[in-house]
Amino acid sequence: MTIEYSEILVRYGELSTKGKNRKTFIHQLAKNMTSALTDLDVRVKATRDHAHILLRGADYELVAERLAKIFGIVNFSPAVSADRSLDTLRTTAQQLMARVYKAGMTFKVQSRRADHTFELDSTELNQFVGDAIFDAFDYAKVQMKQPDVTLRVEVREDAIYLSVETIKGAGGLPVGTAGRGMLMLSGGIDSPVAGYLALKRGVDIEAVHFASPPYTSPGALKKARDLTAKLTAFGGSIQFIEVPFTEIQEEIRDKAPQEYLMTLTRRFMLRITDEIRKIRHGKIIINGESLGQVASQTLGSMEVINAVTTTPIIRPVVTMDKLEIIDIAEKIDTFNLSILPFEDCCTIFAPPNPKTNPKLDKAEFYESKLDIEGLVSRAVAGIKVDKISVSADDAQNQEFDDLL
Ligand code: ATP
Ligand code: MG
Repeated sequence: MTIEYSEILVRYGELSTKGKNRKTFIHQLAKNMTSALTDLDVRVKATRDHAHILLRGADYELVAERLAKIFGIVNFSPAVSADRSLDTLRTTAQQLMARVYKAGMTFKVQSRRADHTFELDSTELNQFVGDAIFDAFDYAKVQMKQPDVTLRVEVREDAIYLSVETIKGAGGLPVGTAGRGMLMLSGGIDSPVAGYLALKRGVDIEAVHFASPPYTSPGALKKARDLTAKLTAFGGSIQFIEVPFTEIQEEIRDKAPQEYLMTLTRRFMLRITDEIRKIRHGKIIINGESLGQVASQTLGSMEVINAVTTTPIIRPVVTMDKLEIIDIAEKIDTFNLSILPFEDCCTIFAPPNPKTNPKLDKAEFYESKLDIEGLVSRAVAGIKVDKISVSADDAQNQEFDDLL
């Protein structure tokens, strides 16, 4: 006598502390849930303190898998609804328990009477439903502290809702509530993880990728696009912006000393990203720099590279160890793509010993021999913008463990 779930109850958590922004947050979360489930015939209804997803026959497992990736959800419970008669409540509670019951299990009933006109109050409800469970399951035991199963009963005006499972959500804040940021996305391990973490705190990201054909291959470009596609599972569709970078790299190679090649290349990337940010109304830049990982990521290097802009740069993985970053990359399913061997534009002319401690005045001096404005504006004029949408395939097949 298994019973089908009729809806999912979604709880918000951190949102509840957000006072006057609350409305915006709930609205955005509802929008994000709707778009993640758009190909299924479900209905999303968001209220002040929780949301409902009416399944209307849709596969619960599939909906749950997608919900687990949406930021702003603390947890959710699949639920069944019963009409407000005690008889139906009794059989529904027994059928629901049958889904999870194993002999000797401990349980407790947690009732809430949102509609106070209902004939039983919450204590009486606990008693009534508890008796129903004892009647149907001989070896069931009540335990108040950490029971195996908590059977939640919620009486509302339209129906009574019952649930036995609570599934942890992705946490964080709904994507889009923090404003827009430009993610500098290479094909490496770190920047997709940085993008994921920015999404988690509500940033609506656009991916900026520098390509230097023919030195970088179409494969490298595809890899960056595929990584962006992976991130859409968490944030919905993402704009992918390809920047032509060949001319700048050749100029630097021909006119600057080798030891400053990396520093100047990075400074150009940052200038260009910042210009694109302005045009596209972004507020911040996000990158995958991790302190001390390579020559361009010493504090001295960061200082000189960062000097081209005062725009806030968010570096979500800056203090993480490589293994910690890899751990997240595996969980969000970007790792296997990231390790595919394609040259990144930054490494194509890289000298064996880039400067780990560049000087700002020297960097500026070498740049004075270049037409900075012309180079930047030609690169910006040449960008290709392409929206990468959630692929249903990817959303369904991706494995996702609890990250938080
Ligand atoms: P990643 O694993 O993200 O490539 P990394 O450890 O290889 O990082 P670098 O190659 O030095 O480090 O790059 C540092 C950061 O610069 C990257 O995390 C990314 O944000 C940015 N970046 C590097 N190459 C590109 C590129 N081709 N397009 C856009 N951003 C880039
Ligand atoms: Mg890299």
